[in-house]
Amino acid sequence: MSIYDFDYLAIGGGSGGIASVNRAAMYGKKCAIVEANALGGTCVNVGCVPKKVMWFGAHIAEAIKYAPDYGFNLEQGDFNWDVLVKNRDAYIQRIHQSYDNVLAKNGVQVISGYAKFVDDHTVEVNGKQITAEHILVATGGTPVIPDLPGAELGTDSDGFFAFTEQPKRVAVIGAGYIAVEIAGVLNELGSQTHLIVRNEKPLRQFDPMLADTLVEIMLESGLHLHNNSTPVGLIETDQGIVVELHDGSQVGPVDEVIWAIGRAPMTDNLNLSAAGVACDEQGFIQTDEYQNTNVPNIFAVGDNTGRIALTPVAVAAGRRLSERLFNNKPNERLDYSNVPTVVFSHPAIGTVGLSEPEAREEYGDAVKVYQSSFTAMYSAVTQHRQPTRMKLVCVGEDEKVVGVHVIGLGADEILQGFAVAVKMGATKADLDNTVAIHPTSAEEFVTMR
Ligand code: FAD
Ligand code: NDP
Repeated sequence: MSIYDFDYLAIGGGSGGIASVNRAAMYGKKCAIVEANALGGTCVNVGCVPKKVMWFGAHIAEAIKYAPDYGFNLEQGDFNWDVLVKNRDAYIQRIHQSYDNVLAKNGVQVISGYAKFVDDHTVEVNGKQITAEHILVATGGTPVIPDLPGAELGTDSDGFFAFTEQPKRVAVIGAGYIAVEIAGVLNELGSQTHLIVRNEKPLRQFDPMLADTLVEIMLESGLHLHNNSTPVGLIETDQGIVVELHDGSQVGPVDEVIWAIGRAPMTDNLNLSAAGVACDEQGFIQTDEYQNTNVPNIFAVGDNTGRIALTPVAVAAGRRLSERLFNNKPNERLDYSNVPTVVFSHPAIGTVGLSEPEAREEYGDAVKVYQSSFTAMYSAVTQHRQPTRMKLVCVGEDEKVVGVHVIGLGADEILQGFAVAVKMGATKADLDNTVAIHPTSAEEFVTMR
């Protein structure tokens, strides 16, 4: 008989927490999960899922532009934001139901409310103390709003998903995944869209071919890109919100401003000091490669650890942690190298491994790059053409593939298989030895010279 209420308790019912408790429960552990908001966390409620639905909606708007060249006489028509949002939210409700079912089937107790540490084995939720032998902190992150005059006139990605009507004019501020994705969706759906980037381009940390191609396509698609533009404040006018820039110029007026300048860990609401859990100066929980914190029975996974902030990463880290703790696999841990990722821009970007500059920095002259640039067949027959660009970054005599990068139609679905190849240590010859699938864009990766 344990002296604790639970064997394993997760704080945070998002990607990492749910995956980890479900796996622990499958090994017979008595588990609970505490969630302050809706089950599913960021990804399901205000992240990947609603974003991808909006992205598909924008895709259809884009397809209508190509339709006449395929013989269809379609008008752009009356787009109904409300219908898209209602269907999106109904889908999310079904995901909630499925989480409820799986957690119930596994015997995981779901507790609604904010958890705060009382000590290293005890948390308090809604005034009640709960004890657990092992505790997982999987509290995720939250959007950053800068400390600038009038910043509160803008919203963030959570606010974007709560829009009840489509803004006719919008300014998105930021240069990462979220800025690029939201600006792309709104632009394709017909909002006059401004993307305000403080440096020379968005997605600076990605391979330059990807970011440069995206900028080229964004400009072509009518998106208003303001680079080298640092916002210094927002002001309300009769005509809408105006974004003031560092050089005295302005963007707007617009109906909505969306801040997408990064996310901060949700750790300040947890009273972590009562348990003695160490964070860095930005509030990220410090963990080793096994997701251990400095407190022996407390672990952390996901966005609050400052590691790669992606759902499958939080899920994989959470599951592997439970395998290690509860299934007698002492060496089980997530390998954070070569994690593939897709930016759901228009068109999508897929990338795994090192960018060309990163590879050159690490391997110097041993780097060899193969590239391909073409018009995917989909838009090759239409008046409006869109480029697809691909790059393989290889290293050494055997040309080991250390980076795969693609922007273009289908990039989101192309990448996963090539990520397997990179993870297995594939060489350029291995790709060349694979027979192409024709006619596809992906075949370029096995036919590059
Ligand atoms: P979360 O999923 O954020 O879950 C944390 C949970 O903890 C939340 O539900 C929160 O309410 C709860 N919580 C916090 N504090 C407490 C407390 N004290 N007590 C109780 N509960 C608490 N990733 C992808 O892989 N692909 C994508 O396409 C993608 N798109 C995204 C789009 C957007 C707009 C955003 C914002 C993110 C996106 N991400 C995407 C990132 C992905 O959503 C996160 O990496 C993932 O959700 C992290 O999982 P997590 O378990 O660490 O945290
Ligand atoms: P990111 O950290 O990816 O990007 C934010 C960028 O905004 C910074 O890199 C910086 O770019 C710029 N920025 C920072 N501060 C300011 C400022 N004060 N003013 C203007 N610009 C600023 O954050 P996101 O919020 O876009 O996303 C958070 C994370 O969520 C991502 O990193 C990703 O891991 C995850 N995510 C994943 C998605 C996917 O898988 N498709 C989709 C959405 C999110 P610079 O330095 O170049 O100016």
